[in-house]
Amino acid sequence: VEFDLIESIRVRAVARDDVLLGIGDDAALLQPPPGQALAVSTDTLNAGVHFPQETAPADLGWKALAVNLSDLAAMGAQPAWCTLSLSLPQADPAWLDAFLDGFLALAQGHAIALVGGDTTRGPLSVGVTVHGFVPAEFALRRTGARVGDEIWITGTIGDAAAALAQWRAGDVCDPALRARLDRPTPRIEAGLALRGLAHAAVDVSDGLLADLAHVLRASDAGAVLQAQALPHSPALAARFDATRRLPLQLAGGDDYELCFCAPPAAHAAIGHALAAVKTPAAVIGRVVAEPGLHVVDAAGNAIDVASRGFEHFTEAGR
Ligand code: ADP
Ligand code: MG
Repeated sequence: VEFDLIESIRVRAVARDDVLLGIGDDAALLQPPPGQALAVSTDTLNAGVHFPQETAPADLGWKALAVNLSDLAAMGAQPAWCTLSLSLPQADPAWLDAFLDGFLALAQGHAIALVGGDTTRGPLSVGVTVHGFVPAEFALRRTGARVGDEIWITGTIGDAAAALAQWRAGDVCDPALRARLDRPTPRIEAGLALRGLAHAAVDVSDGLLADLAHVLRASDAGAVLQAQALPHSPALAARFDATRRLPLQLAGGDDYELCFCAPPAAHAAIGHALAAVKTPAAVIGRVVAEPGLHVVDAAGNAIDVASRGFEHFTEAGR
């Protein structure tokens, strides 16, 4: 039965010239381009922990690959190959087909080859490993932020957390918000465009404050963020007023936007580079020498982000 499942995956997998041997042998044989570093990243999604049990299989397939591609984007890497580890409660060909519809739609969009994996019986769990290329000197590391850098975010944030909040409360989910949760867009083109321009980058998976804190800690710096500069979608504004929006935007995760730090001198070049790949982005703050992450309102007054509302949200969100 498992052989049939693997065979149904193999016949749908797309080829690339640098895949010398794909699914079907004991290991894949892959040919990385000379002179580039191989960027490798893995993320696992477990049912009931990282996604609601009733998530549509096509959405799960998309999201499992998207969250991994987002990590490559945050490194400035060009995706090439992936592997897929599936733990399935039962062999269900229809479920697998729907899962592959979502997974392969995203893979094809970025010309990524599925080159292998593992299929086992167990609680529903999806592990993906992605491989990409980046010249080592252009990789967007977390350690590169410098005092005076502008802090940017792509797109809008808060939508995915808003959808999760609606779902948890048993409310009707706004379809635009729900789409951000179920089908995140990895910012691959933006990551590539930021090579040589950004000092450091991270993708927002756990929440802006938490993920930016990783960069600041690694770079030995602090930051001041402007609450009113955080970009939000029309759908978010329609459902959540500014006060209820802020915790979703600061502490909510799952948006998979890129947060990056870059020198002010690169501001115009970044604007052009991101416009060329149709990725909106906004400056939301500054890197400062004093460690710690501060959020200020329009009047410049500090907002207490360690307050109960935020902590409660962060706990509920994990
Ligand atoms: P082995 O016993 O050598 O690990 P498997 O039966 O696990 O062999 O896998 C056979 C082939 O199918 C391998 O090439 C493996 O990479 C591929 N494969 C297994 N499961 C998956 C999957 N979920 N997605 C993609 N390829 C898979
Ligand atoms: Mg195996």
